[in-house]
Amino acid sequence: MTQPSQPNPVPAIRILGRMGSPLGYMIRDFLYRSEVPFEWVELVDDEDARTRAGVSGLRDSRLPVCLFPDGTRLECPTIRQITEHLGWFREPSQREYDLAIYGAGPAGLSAAVYGASDGLVTVLVERSAVGGQAGSSSKIENYLGFPEGISGAELAERAREQACKFGAEILIGREGVRGEFQPGKVIGYLADGRTIVARTTICATGVDYRQLGLPNEDRFLGAGVYYGAGASEASLCGESDDVYVVGGGNSAGQAALHFSRVARDVNMIVRGESLHSSLSRYLLDRINSASNVHVFTNCEVTALEGDEILERITVTNRQTGESQTCATHWLFVCIGGEPRTAWAEEVGIVRDAAGYLVTGPDLLRDNQLPPGWPLDRNPYYLETNMPGVFAAGDVRHGSVKRCASAVGEGAMAVAFVHRYLAGV
Ligand SMILES: Cc1cc2nc3c(=O)[nH]c(=O)nc-3n(C[C@H](O)[C@H](O)[C@H](O)COP(=O)(O)OP(=O)(O)OC[C@H]3O[C@@H](n4cnc5c(N)ncnc54)[C@H](O)[C@@H]3O)c2cc1C
Repeated sequence: MTQPSQPNPVPAIRILGRMGSPLGYMIRDFLYRSEVPFEWVELVDDEDARTRAGVSGLRDSRLPVCLFPDGTRLECPTIRQITEHLGWFREPSQREYDLAIYGAGPAGLSAAVYGASDGLVTVLVERSAVGGQAGSSSKIENYLGFPEGISGAELAERAREQACKFGAEILIGREGVRGEFQPGKVIGYLADGRTIVARTTICATGVDYRQLGLPNEDRFLGAGVYYGAGASEASLCGESDDVYVVGGGNSAGQAALHFSRVARDVNMIVRGESLHSSLSRYLLDRINSASNVHVFTNCEVTALEGDEILERITVTNRQTGESQTCATHWLFVCIGGEPRTAWAEEVGIVRDAAGYLVTGPDLLRDNQLPPGWPLDRNPYYLETNMPGVFAAGDVRHGSVKRCASAVGEGAMAVAFVHRYLAGV
């Protein structure tokens, strides 16, 4: 069940679309995170759309158009159609796996490398691009072994290659939506109706970006409002643009510094009193010495306005109540994430109040095993209250929210998978 490496298509895929196209952003983000070279061609008016993209005008629903190096033209494609055309979309090859992993962020990729290299018949299911949150980082500088830093996309691509080398099967563009437990196996249901049967499961689905919760927010998603560091967008941002980054944590700090190289000014909107408690020292020092990065503490974004794309935001000082309107097409929201684990509740997997999966010793109450736990032993450290079902990385209650710890938990979870399969 070895799987060929992803092709490295050169020259680039050309994507032709209009400014502020949410689908255009989704495609750019997917290709950027997948390390596929692409060129974004922004169509300026109807005439440009007719001559360059062969459509009737800027409002034509066939936009964006993707032109592949082999001459294929896809109009208004879904991410799945793109993965299919890249040759990455495949059916599960096995009726039953030893190990099914959901989520190909650092935790899931690590579990795939260790599972497959240990000889387990392993499948890794990812709903989007490999890399997870880390894949959207322009540069990870504190990951062991990369003193100059490494882009999240490159780290993910290296891990993907490594997992494939050991024979892990990676199903990209597939989303796990439901689970069913039968003696000795779990059946995972995918959004497209396929099922994955496995003797053990690792849930490594991380967190989804938290939203601001403002009116119009969904409307501007990909058209001025972006979640995460938006690394794919930096090349589109011009030196006369003002960028706004919401959040005071490391991902916000990274995003601010990344955009400071291309934008006129970068403004960090921070709810807290200062960045000292929320930001790593190396990022804080760089932000303090970047002349075009400005930090607005005790502030929050309270309104989003625009016609087709974001034109203005309102920033309000939480202490004085004063508001200011700022013109911008670029708002990056880096305010952490929330786990999406409703499926777990449906099947009786214990979650904490915020939805994180509870594992190992955290399942014990007054030294008592969780209700319904069927075995003589205690749950292993990363095991949920369902024997053979493990959680690793950011989705786990009490996790550290770092690449290295997610990678470590992915590897550890595989060690517990072996113990479970050996019945010890
Ligand atoms: C912009 C940014 C910069 C960061 N920089 C650093 C840094 O410099 N150093 C550091 O240590 N940490 C950094 N972090 C934190 C680090 O990236 C995370 O802690 C880490 O990615 C968590 O890994 P994970 O595998 O647990 O989850 P995630 O990275 O969240 O990956 C989860 C994956 O699961 C997939 N998924 C979700 N649901 C399903 C489903 N139902 N079916 C299939 N797939 C699913 C998602 O699409 C995703 O790919 C950064 C985070 C961000 C957002």
